[in-house]
Amino acid sequence: MKASDLDLRELLELDPKGGVLRFAGQRSLLFDAVALGLLRRELIQLLGQAGARGVLTRFGYAHGWRTAETLKSAFPWDDESEWKRAGGRLHTLQGLVVVEMPAHQRTHLLAESLWQDSYEAEQHLLQLGRSEEPVCWTLTGFASGYLSFCNGGEVYCVEERCRAKGDAVCSVVGRTREEWGAEIETHLPFYDRACLEGALDRVATELKQVEQRLRARKKALGADAPDTNTSGLIAHSDAMLRVIDLARRVAKVDSTVLVTGESGVGKERLARLIHDESTRTGGPFVAINCGAMPETLLESELFGHAKGAFTGATQDRPGLFEAANGGTLLLDEIGEVSAPMQVKLLRTLQEREVRRVGENKNRKVDVRVLAATNRDLLTEVHAARFRQDLYYRLRVVELRVPPLRERRADVLALARTFLKAACRLSRCSTGSIPFSS
Ligand SMILES: [Zn+2]
Repeated sequence: MKASDLDLRELLELDPKGGVLRFAGQRSLLFDAVALGLLRRELIQLLGQAGARGVLTRFGYAHGWRTAETLKSAFPWDDESEWKRAGGRLHTLQGLVVVEMPAHQRTHLLAESLWQDSYEAEQHLLQLGRSEEPVCWTLTGFASGYLSFCNGGEVYCVEERCRAKGDAVCSVVGRTREEWGAEIETHLPFYDRACLEGALDRVATELKQVEQRLRARKKALGADAPDTNTSGLIAHSDAMLRVIDLARRVAKVDSTVLVTGESGVGKERLARLIHDESTRTGGPFVAINCGAMPETLLESELFGHAKGAFTGATQDRPGLFEAANGGTLLLDEIGEVSAPMQVKLLRTLQEREVRRVGENKNRKVDVRVLAATNRDLLTEVHAARFRQDLYYRLRVVELRVPPLRERRADVLALARTFLKAACRLSRCSTGSIPFSS
């Protein structure tokens, strides 16, 4: 039997009255292509383009692998090449894409085909508009999975042209991993589950960015009121609920707190919660990223300066310690602070007074200091990069914010919150988002 002998009328078993429908012996579904397009849009909005591409590629791959396995034994193929061709023929019969062989095949390639009327390119254009790169991810994944099973080794198909990026037709080539060499490296992450982990990190980062933009916007409107309840912290997981509970209790005690955890886990949010739940909530909350600026600038930012203290100091200016008077000052990325600056910070914490750069008098400040870092400060202390006395002064209480991978129960809620925030910001310029709740 040849691949071209596959006939829809023989493959499709259906009861005209409805019920279970089978295609090539497998239970199949008649599915609206637009619904799949909406799902694609939802995935891209939730996981970013790379995350969505990974999910759809692996979905296609698994489908392709399974199909090859089923077809192998289902029909008496004339030879192996007919079985290999049957995957494309099946996809054509199922209406996903019309697979054709190019008129002039490049003989050195393991596989090469033209894809007409790809439902994926069509839906991508419909839901998301023109793309910069090929988008037939499920189909490419299917072809890779199918050929990998047939070949008994890794085969990867790459879409060279795609309707969704303005080409007349989609075209795809397949080679073994060895044949591709280094050229395939950029495509491999989409076949690997780790690619989704990256997407979750991106969601967390983007969430943080949206929060920052929201805060900046509120500030610009003169309404920098603290958020209610948990200061925007999303907590469904036990790990995060424990941290928040502890933060609430610590908030009532006017001590310094060291917030630790990896970048992007929400350390600043937690610091904000401590401020909001403390008796200082009516005062200012000021945060500074100590790692983002050179030492001299940081000193003038924190402690202020007198007029003429250095070139460009055209007037007296109070620093952030004074700006936070009566409230809370968050020293973010405290682990990045230089040794001389550590001495100055220690003195300020001990004396509860600051001296502006270029002045010789001290000013009393009433500030609760919170510090945050993604470094292991104790290791820094052992390595003599961080002063032990400052460490103990900052770490009266330590709160460790667990990374997202340790609180997976928060992932969906974070993603939803991010989506809603992004939607509010853009006022849903692309219309309503189906399925979101
Ligand atoms: Zn395409």
